[in-house]
Amino acid sequence: MGAPRHHALRGPEVAVLVCPKCRTQNAATASFCESCGASLAAEREADDKIEAMLLAQARKGVWALGVVAVVQMIATLVIDAGNPILWTITGLFAVLAVWALRAPLIASGLGLGIFAVLHILEAFVDPSSIYKGILLKVVVISLLVGAIKNGLAHRNFRRERGQA
Ligand SMILES: [Zn+2]
Repeated sequence: MGAPRHHALRGPEVAVLVCPKCRTQNAATASFCESCGASLAAEREADDKIEAMLLAQARKGVWALGVVAVVQMIATLVIDAGNPILWTITGLFAVLAVWALRAPLIASGLGLGIFAVLHILEAFVDPSSIYKGILLKVVVISLLVGAIKNGLAHRNFRRERGQA
């Protein structure tokens, strides 16, 4: 995704709103051009849309974590329904999935870390487990990586605008 024309950079990490009339660079938080007084509402609105899109993509981690929670629950019921550790892992991913709505970046990052550690441990105990549900693992990992990337992009975007 390319940066929109009005959203130019004035040095690293500093976003500005470029006035559509006189091209003056204004602070990202400005409502009116400091040079000619033109309204920057349309520019701000365009930025708001980009921010909302990045947030929506970051929230896709909810789906990945939700799928892990459901698969983990089914596996627990099938393998050992009385095992508190398996239920704890199930609950953990369910909590992370819900949390991903509020804090998509942290929840997806934690989820990916825990998911990776669990499957590495599992592979040590039973090397044949690596290929078990490999497609699901790949889908979950790529969804979480995508969510983390968009979460980072969203955070940086907010920082550039002075919102974070
Ligand atoms: Zn202007």
